[in-house]
Amino acid sequence: QSQELSHVRIDYHAALLALQEQGTRMVCTGKMHTDRICRFDYLCYCTEAEEFIFFHSNASVMLPNLGPRRFQPALLDLSSVEDHNTQYFNFLELPAAALKYMPKPVFVPDVTLILNRFNADNLMHIFHDDLLPIFYTMQQYTDLDDEARLVFMEGWGEGSHFDLYRLLSSKQPLLKEHLRNFGKLMCFTKSYVGLTKMTTWYQYGFVQPQGPKANILVSGNEIRQFASFIMDRLNITTEERPDGDDYIVVFSRASNRLILNEAELILALAQEYKMRTVTVSLEEQTFASIVQLISGASMLVSMHGAQLITSMFLPRGAAVIELFPYAVNPEQYMPYKTLASLPGMDLQYISWRNTIEENSVAYPDRPWDQGGIAHLEKEEQERILASKEVPRHLCCRNPEWLFRIYQDTIVDIPSFLEVLREGLKVKPNLKKSKPASVVHPGRVRQPKCQTSVQAAHEAKLSVSWQIPWNLKYLKVREVKYEVWIQEQGENTYMPYILPQQNYTFSENIKPFTTYLVWVRCIFNKNLLGPFADVLICKT
Ligand code: UDP
Repeated sequence: QSQELSHVRIDYHAALLALQEQGTRMVCTGKMHTDRICRFDYLCYCTEAEEFIFFHSNASVMLPNLGPRRFQPALLDLSSVEDHNTQYFNFLELPAAALKYMPKPVFVPDVTLILNRFNADNLMHIFHDDLLPIFYTMQQYTDLDDEARLVFMEGWGEGSHFDLYRLLSSKQPLLKEHLRNFGKLMCFTKSYVGLTKMTTWYQYGFVQPQGPKANILVSGNEIRQFASFIMDRLNITTEERPDGDDYIVVFSRASNRLILNEAELILALAQEYKMRTVTVSLEEQTFASIVQLISGASMLVSMHGAQLITSMFLPRGAAVIELFPYAVNPEQYMPYKTLASLPGMDLQYISWRNTIEENSVAYPDRPWDQGGIAHLEKEEQERILASKEVPRHLCCRNPEWLFRIYQDTIVDIPSFLEVLREGLKVKPNLKKSKPASVVHPGRVRQPKCQTSVQAAHEAKLSVSWQIPWNLKYLKVREVKYEVWIQEQGENTYMPYILPQQNYTFSENIKPFTTYLVWVRCIFNKNLLGPFADVLICKT
């Protein structure tokens, strides 16, 4: 099988010579192991030892050259989940001379991206931890193109949606277990190791309870561009539908966390919104057909769960309604709320929680990973059964959390409709939702101040400026300016919002005083520009 990857013979000798003489070369980005991606020439992998190998020669490069800090705790994170101790990457070192005594290497000619998938059996994890980061890591390095080879080193099988990974490049992705087929020593001619974390928005609660990441760097724009790429690869086209053909999708789960009165819920939705309502489930439809439906829906209603990641395929203006079982607080589990609320996703998000215990069906006798609690001490079982809300907890095996989240629910229709009426400020409307402008103002130009003293206690401060340079090329609904005036030495300032390009301040302006003045432009209330250089104005 080694022929599949290796070059023709002449290239093989050239490659072997290059490896022997040049050794491995590595150049990375990132100051820390958590933000590092490394590019390698001739990174090798020993399938027997299950270790990557760096061959030292006179021409080797290792940047950063960390010395033993390379093990504190690792060179980099192999998955997009930050600093997880099961996801570290490192390599063993050998002198290139050792190649003489080693099995003949098999060379991988494709530009390769080497990474760990985090949880390939869960749709949310597949998208959030793997597909989006892989897609944008490939955008970052132009030689990771459609011919790139993906290699998944976490050691799992294909997982439940392997076809989705196949969409990212034209080459079959390789699993760790496949590597053995290529021989004892494989050398990747050119490879990248690691994934960007720029696109992730959620942390799963390994060190602190789960929640949105502290510093989210992705907007709805990038999510939607990725979503269109995926739809394109799935051959999904969004056709224009006639007016009045709006519909609601209820995404149901067939094996657990059920909605027990689904028919009643569907009827209520259809009556309330005068829209047809369809159900989908991963057990009944193909992923592509589900995405096709969701991409035209006005509303997506679902129990909390990984299937809600498909809300990224909803059109702008649509609504996401997430249902939570009894004793689960929606505020503490918000991967899908965070997604829907990213600037530029343009989705409305509402959560509903079951507050009626009798409307809940729990499964204490199931295995622990499906929410069973029979294995716990009697006292602990009783405490859980009496609790009205799961307290904050860390990932991932909290029995009380699993017990509650795997309950089935009868959705109380009156309270459900009330939450919708309350929460949906506007009727979900797809036709009107165009992407909002994202263009920020430039700096205001030629800011100036003039001062005059009127009397012993009266002075004036006139500030003027020119419009930002980019404004003359833009149609902006509302242009305003913000002026901050700070008396030198004071630590507070007075802020003003002005529609015009000059203003004379006289209130609170004292004679013979130095003021620091900052001016910036604001488009449409929330697009803030940078401040111009501070003006120093003496009255
Ligand atoms: N799943 C499903 N139907 C079900 C239960 C689960 O399709 O009835 C899918 C779910 O979408 C996810 C995977 O199986 O991709 C694992 O589900 P789990 O309950 O472990 O995770 P969660 O949905 O809570 O993230």
